[in-house]
Amino acid sequence: MVRLIRGKLLELRRASSRTLTRKRTALSLYVVLLVLPTLVLGTLLWHQLVQDQQERLAAVPLQVRDAASRLVDTVNARFQRLLERENRRGFEEYRWQFSPRKAVGAPIVFVHSPLASEEPPEGILSWFTYHLADGPEADYQLIRSPDHRDEEYDRIEPGLYASVGQLVQHDWEDGFFRRVTRLSDLHTEETPLPFVGVNASRERDVNCLIAANPELEELEEKRVLVRSFDFHLRFYFEGDGTPRIVATRPVNIQGDPAFEQMSDCFRELMDGETLMQGFFVDPAWLFHELPLACASGVLEGSMEFIPADAPLLARGRDLEVATIRPVEALDFETYAEEDLDYGSIQVAVSTRELRASFAAQTRRFLGVAAMLLLALGTGLALLLRSVRRELEQAERTENFVAAVTHELRTPVSAIRLYGEMLHDGWTVSADKQKEYFARIVSESMRLETMVERVLQKARLDSGGDEPVVVDLNECLRPTVEELVPRGRAAGNDLALELAPGLPGVLASPEAISSIVVNLVENARKYAPVAAGSSTNGASSEPILVRTRSQRGGAVVEVLDRGPGIPDHEKERVFDAFYRIGNEATRTSRGTGLGLHLVRAQAESMGGSAEVEDRPGGGSVFRVTLRAADKAS
Ligand code: ADP
Repeated sequence: MVRLIRGKLLELRRASSRTLTRKRTALSLYVVLLVLPTLVLGTLLWHQLVQDQQERLAAVPLQVRDAASRLVDTVNARFQRLLERENRRGFEEYRWQFSPRKAVGAPIVFVHSPLASEEPPEGILSWFTYHLADGPEADYQLIRSPDHRDEEYDRIEPGLYASVGQLVQHDWEDGFFRRVTRLSDLHTEETPLPFVGVNASRERDVNCLIAANPELEELEEKRVLVRSFDFHLRFYFEGDGTPRIVATRPVNIQGDPAFEQMSDCFRELMDGETLMQGFFVDPAWLFHELPLACASGVLEGSMEFIPADAPLLARGRDLEVATIRPVEALDFETYAEEDLDYGSIQVAVSTRELRASFAAQTRRFLGVAAMLLLALGTGLALLLRSVRRELEQAERTENFVAAVTHELRTPVSAIRLYGEMLHDGWTVSADKQKEYFARIVSESMRLETMVERVLQKARLDSGGDEPVVVDLNECLRPTVEELVPRGRAAGNDLALELAPGLPGVLASPEAISSIVVNLVENARKYAPVAAGSSTNGASSEPILVRTRSQRGGAVVEVLDRGPGIPDHEKERVFDAFYRIGNEATRTSRGTGLGLHLVRAQAESMGGSAEVEDRPGGGSVFRVTLRAADKAS
């Protein structure tokens, strides 16, 4: 018997620890396979998001600078094309008319210079030329169209004619010629003397030049050196604030003694000549129209072009700006530091959209993260709760096992003690011996009840009987009839009240019977019914076993008129081995397992057990069972 009990207890302990291990494993797997990967992946994803955004933001200034330098390159390429064409232009074209190179022996003819006859290329305002040797008062000419000669020209380009005058004066004082001959590239060409003579002569009367044809024909084979320099570019403001871009080059014609023998038209060429030639570039074209035209092809859609006449933008949190100073970028010579700022243009990119899209991404990420965390957190909380419950259950089982082991010792020791006393003949009194035998019998009964209940408990913890649909009234009737004392003169202390029309409940008939037996036996122990009229404070009202239907099921109640159970003990009386420490308990036999089993059995059927005060005194022990249709 004792071995059986020990086996059952061990089984109980093992089952509880198996469930606990399973739950703990589930918890660990949940954390390792779900929570940790989610947290790690989430963190990595967030890190990537932030890094991408930082890279995108960091790339913006570079993109803007790249775009600005592309724009400068495009503008510069266009301008350089213009400049190269002008560099290639022969010195002879800087007149209203010139004589093209002719075949040997052919007569001299004059044609209009393209500078005067053609529409000037885009960006050039006008060409000019003068003789360096004439000093600051040199007689300069402005060439643009045959219809607008020199001073007349002033009417279409006011101030430009005077500008050349100022420039001649300035350059003489500045020693510009010497400076520019050091800086510029030089092109030297051996040119036929007649061609140079006709085109470099100061003589404006073409007839004088044509008349010299026979003399020139004799010199057809002779060559003179013509040295021309590349155009040198300058940007400056005139006294009245007019901005000017001027390109200037010296062209040096080598002198030749042959010119001395010729007619007067050529006499000055004897010692050679230096012609200063140049042209004005339109600042509005170069700084405004050209960048604007290039910008559309060079800049990306997200970039904004800020033209020269718009106020300059400042770089800010939401704005990345690159400023181009064309005067500096195109390497113009200037005379004042602030001239470099003229015509500044900008390329701007707003980073607001980038930030807004990141904010939207962040919101989406946080939303998803919050949902995931909530789901994972809920799962974790549920698992933890279940593990905690299991831990509590394991602790309860452990306590129960310890308590059973302890409680079993008391009756066993008592039986052994009385047995030994009888065996050893400690008492010879027949009364005493009878008393010892009675003690042995009662302790054995206590042991039996205890063993019976421990086995019941073990059965319950390992699943119990499968509940079936039962009619509560039908189930109760035979049990109560069994409980009615037979052949007792004192009469029946038990009343049965069965409510009709109860729903079928999900229960085990054995468990219901055991519950009612337990409760009725308790009532008889702790709330005995007085035989006949009330004596010793005991009630004459019989113990009532009744059923009634309740929403969602049915209840069975056992009501007595006993001392009742104090409020603070109402829950504890259902604990294993708990007995209230009052007189009634001390004088009655018990194990403290009865009510514990009642609750365990009720719960194993999906129901509950509780106790409350009965109006008018006594207790109501109630077991609630679920209706079969509800339960399914
Ligand atoms: P026991 O073996 O002591 O009867 P139970 O678990 O059945 O163990 O009951 C626990 C304690 O609850 C009892 O010791 C007793 O003090 C109290 N008790 C049980 N039933 C009643 C009742 N009907 N009226 C008053 N007290 C009761």
